[in-house]
Amino acid sequence: GVDDDVRRDDEKNAASSSSKPAAAVEAKEVLAETRKRLPVFAYRTEFLEAVADNQVLVVIGETGSGKTTQLPQYLHEVGYSKLGAIGCTQPRRVAAMSVAARVSKEMDVVLGREVGYSIRFEDCTSKDTILKYMTDGMLLREFLGEPDLGSYSVMMIDEAHERTLHTDVLFGLIKDVARFREDIKIIISSATMNADAFSTYFDDAAIFNIPGRTYDVEILYTKAPEADYLDAAVVTVLQTHITQPPGDILVFFTGQEEIEAADEILHERTKGLGSRIKELIICPIYASLPSEMQAKIFEPTPPGARKVVLGTNIAETSLTIDGICFVIDAGFCKQKTYNPRSGVESLIVTPISQAQAAQRAGRAGRTRPGTCFRLYTAWAYQHELEENTVPEIQRTNMTSVVLMLKSLGIHDLLHFDFMDPPPAEMLVRALEQLYALGALNDRGELTKLGRRMAEFPCDPQLSKSILVGDKYGCVAETITIGAMLSAGNAVFHRPKDRAVHADNARMNFARGGGGDHLALLRVFTEWTDSDYSTQWCYENYVQARSMMRARDIRDQFNLLCERVELELSTVGLSDVQAVQKAVCAGYFYNTAKLASSGEYKTVKHHHTVFVHPSSVLANEDVMPRWLCFHELAFTTKEYMRHVFPIEPQWLIEIAPHYYQQKELVDARKHKMPKSQGLAAAAAADNPR
Ligand code: ADP
Ligand code: MG
Repeated sequence: GVDDDVRRDDEKNAASSSSKPAAAVEAKEVLAETRKRLPVFAYRTEFLEAVADNQVLVVIGETGSGKTTQLPQYLHEVGYSKLGAIGCTQPRRVAAMSVAARVSKEMDVVLGREVGYSIRFEDCTSKDTILKYMTDGMLLREFLGEPDLGSYSVMMIDEAHERTLHTDVLFGLIKDVARFREDIKIIISSATMNADAFSTYFDDAAIFNIPGRTYDVEILYTKAPEADYLDAAVVTVLQTHITQPPGDILVFFTGQEEIEAADEILHERTKGLGSRIKELIICPIYASLPSEMQAKIFEPTPPGARKVVLGTNIAETSLTIDGICFVIDAGFCKQKTYNPRSGVESLIVTPISQAQAAQRAGRAGRTRPGTCFRLYTAWAYQHELEENTVPEIQRTNMTSVVLMLKSLGIHDLLHFDFMDPPPAEMLVRALEQLYALGALNDRGELTKLGRRMAEFPCDPQLSKSILVGDKYGCVAETITIGAMLSAGNAVFHRPKDRAVHADNARMNFARGGGGDHLALLRVFTEWTDSDYSTQWCYENYVQARSMMRARDIRDQFNLLCERVELELSTVGLSDVQAVQKAVCAGYFYNTAKLASSGEYKTVKHHHTVFVHPSSVLANEDVMPRWLCFHELAFTTKEYMRHVFPIEPQWLIEIAPHYYQQKELVDARKHKMPKSQGLAAAAAADNPR
């Protein structure tokens, strides 16, 4: 049977020799030795036997034990890759890329050939790829083309404890695949939590434990709550650096902005320390960091120096950094939350869970006993942190996933086999939103438009905008704007010492109107006209890296347009209104109106929202009465990010089934004596 073949192949592989130059052979041997020192290596045979004996296997092991990098290689070494590719999902793109790079090095192959990765807008695989790392979202997309995962012999759903929306949906789909494909092997791997829940869900699947080597971690709390955790973190880093024995530091922040701020302060303050203090190597790590800079965190720290990694919760379990002895945990992370009543999704800085706090602390005890500084009180830990993080599926907008499931022919979503079902209200809202977008008909069936929308790897709102671009003759413009919005938030560069110049440069793109979206379109158009010049980017305070990424994404949108037979019509920059209308046709949920108080309120739910300070409209003297926004981000206030002015009448034209004329009355247009005017405005703001 297969198992015997598999074991014989193992011996053959082990015996193979190479004829490479001495240095390369040596480097290879070092890597091979490193592999053998990982905790998982001692369990290689047992693991392979467990896979042979079980169709679904739940693997539990400490972060850093070698699950992600080693298990797929072991399976390859014994021949599973001859039966089909070995897939491994990751919740985060950075992890998929970094792990694939590491494994290709360990296997001594070119990344993108035998070992590759696939993340949204970037496919680094070939027809030779046998070990494929991918984001969970990409595997979900693959289901659309290959519902039985026919090209895979093994699928490993990694980092299962993260319980991302996509992972949870994959659970349901893959459980089904396992039923009708006896030959496929499924591995659910997770850090040390929730093993029983996974096993129960997969019909009492066997659990395989990889005992980890971990050392004690001393946990220290602050005596009083910290008013400014960023500053407290920086001070703790410097104190640790000056007073503690060697060992690297890992600090957890919530996102790129905090990390960049901490990076800057640390650079400044270490400058003043003088030469008697050891060197402090500062390494930021977050999702949109370019990969060359990401690689820096894995470089061994030179003797006499100390490394401090400033990371997000990506460093909790997805990436293992060796040599960390000190962890500084500010106790927060950014979490998506969704209000199904208002239909608005926001990214909110939230306290982490106790389970996350334990994972973070654990990072300090991998090589020797370590210390974890929690920048919150023991009382807060006990009383303010939830025990476990709520699975994303219970707190997120399901629209995109519901569209995908509908495309897969799964109609009865209320009875779909979710590990933890989303609240019915969330599903109902998603269905309503898809209906409002025209992706579903009134019987909840996928429409032709919906089928085309599902082809695009982006939010249904954006794919709707792109497809409606056809009606307004501006598909090219909508895909450019979509690409710019998908490329990340860092299109404009704003160095502190040249902030005024940077702001002027940004405002130049706003000339001609149309708010942030049209400004982004002008940036891309001018950059294209400059022949994609880096110099142009530099002169205009635009990030060349974001632009190149936008261009790649745009190229992919182009290909997809061909696939759904959508003509690339264009109006250039001449018809601002056509472009605004097309974008608005996807985002008509996200509208706000200037209230008599001078604040913006969302049109449907009268929620107070603010124009984000980075918007080209943020400093207008006369603010537009009506706005459409791309998303809400909650930091100190609820901010609308990327906004453009609209005419209320467009909403009737674009979404007649969603808006009624009476909601779109502009109270301030009717000039009245001041007192009456205010009363009327207040009444109009709150019609019920
Ligand atoms: P797990 O999935 O169990 O958390 P991994 O397989 O990710 O463990 O990591 C095993 C080891 O491989 C870690 O000790 C880490 O040092 C090393 N490693 C992983 N990725 C990289 C990388 N990109 N560069 C260098 N070393 C890496
Ligand atoms: Mg891992």
